[in-house]
Amino acid sequence: MGPTSPSVRPTWRHGPVTVHFGEKTGKYPDGNQVVVRGRDTLAVFDTPQVANQLGPDFDAADLVILGHVHEDHMAGLHRLPRAQVQVHEADLEAARSWQGLSRHYGYPPSVLDPLRRKIELDFHYRPRPDALGFADGAVWDLGGVRVRAAHLPGHTAGHCVLLVEPQGIAFIGDFDLSSFGPYYGDATSSLADFRHSLRRLAALPASAWITSHHKGVVVERAQFDDLLQAYAARLDEREARLLEMLADGPQSLAQLAQRRLLYPADATDLWIDCAEQRSIAQHLDELLAAGRVVADEQRRYRLAGR
Ligand SMILES: [Zn+2]
Repeated sequence: MGPTSPSVRPTWRHGPVTVHFGEKTGKYPDGNQVVVRGRDTLAVFDTPQVANQLGPDFDAADLVILGHVHEDHMAGLHRLPRAQVQVHEADLEAARSWQGLSRHYGYPPSVLDPLRRKIELDFHYRPRPDALGFADGAVWDLGGVRVRAAHLPGHTAGHCVLLVEPQGIAFIGDFDLSSFGPYYGDATSSLADFRHSLRRLAALPASAWITSHHKGVVVERAQFDDLLQAYAARLDEREARLLEMLADGPQSLAQLAQRRLLYPADATDLWIDCAEQRSIAQHLDELLAAGRVVADEQRRYRLAGR
């Protein structure tokens, strides 16, 4: 069996929406491919690795709406040189150029250089200088079916949920409802925005939720609420764990990152130290603002009142 066997891939269909699940329901580095077939326009949401195995179901797309920009959501773009690519304006430069994507990640050159080689190889990475930006509330009429963008930043500055109407099917992207929890480890990520967006996501009117990774499709409101609550609770668990780490005495950001707040000790991905530092720094900022942590002149952090 060759790598292009479109008929054997597991899918979920509802009205105009088809989800082609990636490996392990789209566990990173793969993802789940959403295809929306309107009377006039065939649209795809993001382009994960699995897009490369779908044949005409994917390759005939007229329109790509990116829920956000990250390497694992751009892996099928190279197949659609003539399709219109649209992305929220806050992620637009990241889609248009490597320089934009570099600023989006915010990693140092020692990470960015090998990362670029890796994503060109593993994710067919190519910038899309022709990509166009949209704003919160943008609507696409595909013919008998509409897509509406809800800007819910935090994971990236331009992260959006894409709602298929009137069916009420929400592509929630990297609100992946995974046991890892929220990711806000890049330069353009924001923990504060993530917290706000989680509350808005809970209130969004939908009857089915599709994640880019892990969960796939959830069609029960109660199950979605439970999964979202557990996912959001990871933020409090990380904060509690960081306070525990700080109870050992004053430590720098680099020292805290080395001890690992988010990732297992044996994880080796290129960006992990950067993501740890960026994530921990945002939790520290919250704790500093709340007066629960203080920093000394050497920028070592300790619990307030110790
Ligand atoms: Zn992402």
